[in-house]
Amino acid sequence: MLVLHMILWLNAFISYHTETVMSTTQFSSESRGQYKAKAYAAASAKSPLAPTTIPRRDPGEHDVQIEILFCGICHSDLHQVRNEWSGIPTVYPCVPGHEIVGRVTKVGSAVTKFKPGDLAAVGCLVDSDGNCHECQAGLEQFCPHMTLTYNSPDVHLGGVTYGGYSDSIVVKEHFVLGVPSNLNIAGVAPLLCAGITTYSPMRHWGVTKGKKVGVVGLGGLGHMAVKFAHALGSHVVVFTTSPNKKEDALRLGADDVVISRNTDQMSKHVDSFDFILDAVSAEHDINAYIQLLRRDGNITLVGAPDKPHDVSALSLLFKRRSLSGSLIGGIAETQEMLDFCGKHNITADVEVIPIQKVNEAYERLSSADVKYRFSIDMASLKSQ
Ligand SMILES: [Zn+2]
Ligand SMILES: [Zn+2]
Repeated sequence: MLVLHMILWLNAFISYHTETVMSTTQFSSESRGQYKAKAYAAASAKSPLAPTTIPRRDPGEHDVQIEILFCGICHSDLHQVRNEWSGIPTVYPCVPGHEIVGRVTKVGSAVTKFKPGDLAAVGCLVDSDGNCHECQAGLEQFCPHMTLTYNSPDVHLGGVTYGGYSDSIVVKEHFVLGVPSNLNIAGVAPLLCAGITTYSPMRHWGVTKGKKVGVVGLGGLGHMAVKFAHALGSHVVVFTTSPNKKEDALRLGADDVVISRNTDQMSKHVDSFDFILDAVSAEHDINAYIQLLRRDGNITLVGAPDKPHDVSALSLLFKRRSLSGSLIGGIAETQEMLDFCGKHNITADVEVIPIQKVNEAYERLSSADVKYRFSIDMASLKSQ
């Protein structure tokens, strides 16, 4: 996840610095009012998150204003807040959060899909140019001019965008998602990053009924992958280094659990998988999983270890196996994922916390002490 988000940021950063002059001219005529929203922000890499107020733009004709009810805590939030991406500075104050769910409070005159009172969600993106090849293909996550939900240049108010650790947000309608009404919304929040990050590659690589699917790593991403693969009708095998995760993996929908350090257990699955999702960000031997793929099988990375993987070309050549990566998903596919979750009653397993416990949650996230995602109850921000 880490490097993927670095690339997202770099893209936004480069576009900003190459187009500052144009943007200033282009958007000055659009300048409009703003209001103050409550938020939690980090003032520096070493500061804990603390209460503050931030500016939000008054909704324009294409905008939707959302009262935020829950916001998930993604690993990227922690890395960005602590400025852990070398050479890519975090702009402070930093308000993280890109797993946002809430209720619409106001819409612009040109908005057609939402009305006040609707449930709505926002993920990792809040804007893109809308006319490049990627946007035309509905793949806004690859747009060279996309705007990330936080720490991306804000063309409306200047400075950078502020994320979901806040009581409200204003987002262009195209980037606002509808939320099925039957789901527990605290558990919906993480679907906006952890959910789409795992759903998108499964759809791309044709995970369906009867396929054999592996999930490497059972954390925030992995636990969503297991739920999706199971709901899509596949035979799901979880690979983990921790034997004590077996019971939970089976509860989440796995058909089998393999302790990845056990070579006997691993060898039983050689040449058998159609698809493997690798969600591990720690260093590990990817060749051990490539050899488990059948002919034309694919392994997709959604975790990004700091050190490059050492990959055996021969194990790819024989059996025409492929290795690829994937990054969140486009807006249309994110909506498809939420609708799929509504139909199959899928949400993330969350531990709900008040915003006042966010710094403690970061410490626990650092040591992987959460099953499987923190979701912040933003009602707690009202009393702040
Ligand atoms: Zn994320
Ligand atoms: Zn674009």
